[in-house]
Amino acid sequence: MPAMLIAGNWKMHKTAAETIEFGTALRRAVEPLEGVDVVVCPPYTSLDEAVRVLAGSGIEVFAQNAHWEKEGAFTGEISAPMLAELGVVGSLVAHSERRQLFAETDESSARRIAGVLDAGLRVIACVGETEQEREAGETEAVLRRQVEAIRGAVEDDDVHRLTIAYEPVWAIGTGRTATPEQAEEAHALIRSLFDVPLLYGGSVKEDNAAELLSQPDVDGALVGGASLEVESFAAICEAAAAAAA
Ligand code: PEP
Repeated sequence: MPAMLIAGNWKMHKTAAETIEFGTALRRAVEPLEGVDVVVCPPYTSLDEAVRVLAGSGIEVFAQNAHWEKEGAFTGEISAPMLAELGVVGSLVAHSERRQLFAETDESSARRIAGVLDAGLRVIACVGETEQEREAGETEAVLRRQVEAIRGAVEDDDVHRLTIAYEPVWAIGTGRTATPEQAEEAHALIRSLFDVPLLYGGSVKEDNAAELLSQPDVDGALVGGASLEVESFAAICEAAAAAAA
């Protein structure tokens, strides 16, 4: 069985000093695990320290977003080559908080994905329906639209550097998790549209990880809140290692 992928999205948490402390403890906790690839996604200001403190551990560092251009008049943005120079190996793109709070669209997300892949980095691209869309019976249409936009941004030669994370918006940071059946149904649909590794995200915790990760089309998890403490994040990584065994 291929390795599971567990990615921790720190969002706007952890200073550079906190990153050193966390990274030191995290590498001790997850280095011995087999069958699981571990990624952390710190804020931009902690990327440099994360790369340093995790060097040689096998834990990889992704950013949380990146611009499509290499450089230019884009105040407040960061480009993929700038990330690569730090030793960052990939980026999240199209997280629902970017879509909902910062007006990112399928089109801007597609451009960001292409920019990151073009720089030789990996992408975890996020998709997922809102509660309103699910209640209106639009989940499938939303996922089809979002996945098609992603697929259109990826050259065949770059597909191996893409992972998609299914994150139902109503489950992110709410403590409400999709049932394993809901996750599997969405993942099977996404896989039928684009066959790449698929992570589930949305209130993944130590006590629900094993069940979610045991679904046939779930290849790992994107973890927000529970990735901020070493103990809870390591426990999810352990559940992934067990699921991969
Ligand atoms: C996320 O931010 O991608 C996420 C899934 O958050 P949480 O685990 O806190 O729901």
